[in-house]
Amino acid sequence: MANFIDVINGGATVILDGGMGTLMQQLGGSLKSGENNLLHPQIVERAHRLYAEAGSDAITSNTFSLNAAYAAKQGEDKQKTEDALAAALEIAATVCDGKLFLLGDIGPSGEMLAPLGKGDPEQLYEAFCRQAELMAAYPLDAFLIETVFDLKEAQIILRACLDIAPQIPVLLSLTFSSLKKGGCTMMGNSAAQIAAAAAQQGAAAVGANCGDLTPADYAQVIASMRAACELPLLIQPNAGKPQRQGGEIIYSLAAAEFAQEMASCYAAGARLLGGCCGTTPEHIAALAARYKG
Ligand SMILES: [Zn+2]
Repeated sequence: MANFIDVINGGATVILDGGMGTLMQQLGGSLKSGENNLLHPQIVERAHRLYAEAGSDAITSNTFSLNAAYAAKQGEDKQKTEDALAAALEIAATVCDGKLFLLGDIGPSGEMLAPLGKGDPEQLYEAFCRQAELMAAYPLDAFLIETVFDLKEAQIILRACLDIAPQIPVLLSLTFSSLKKGGCTMMGNSAAQIAAAAAQQGAAAVGANCGDLTPADYAQVIASMRAACELPLLIQPNAGKPQRQGGEIIYSLAAAEFAQEMASCYAAGARLLGGCCGTTPEHIAALAARYKG
């Protein structure tokens, strides 16, 4: 298989996967996404395989937030969290089988850094070093830091990954809440500031996922990042703006509309293309059909 870094640095389009939580629930899995790795490994595997069949070039391990900091906040057992992490990587590596890129999802802590929250930078760094060390035992093509809304936390996770496993590239994806300053996170970090920091600190790619912006909105974030750095750019939006309907949050963009809106992100320079909340294997199949030809 081609080397992941060569592929992304060469400017090739790489199709990433989409939302996992809802898909696993539909397949009969648990509401708690990470719990599926231990309780329903066959459902996690099935979800990955649906994305592979849809045309994903990469599989993202089902390890979102499986770190000590998040576990402590949720009152979860640390060992159980580490077992779920290992199980997830086993499953994802089996599905990839050296034919698809394996991305190791890492972060966030779910805790705001002091003084806004209780997050202690040193403790978070330690927790992410431990997680990176456990994950580096698997044949990862890259770490994927995603759904982080604070650049400071993102930089702590990035530092932990690079310190523990400098041979593994790191993709850094922040979550945006508005288009102020050319795209801006809840903490006020601008897209340009994030891109410059990612390049300076040694990330292999930078981009955005989830949040309150549509794929079309995210084109502005991608354009701001393109102007601020030369790194490959990644985009995994939700299937539209999250909307409340009854007690549920829904995402309204159907697969074809989603793929169509992503054209603006592609035109702005994004080449790692996938989805987040509300996206399904159908959304990824539509992306693959349109951007991989
Ligand atoms: Zn999301």
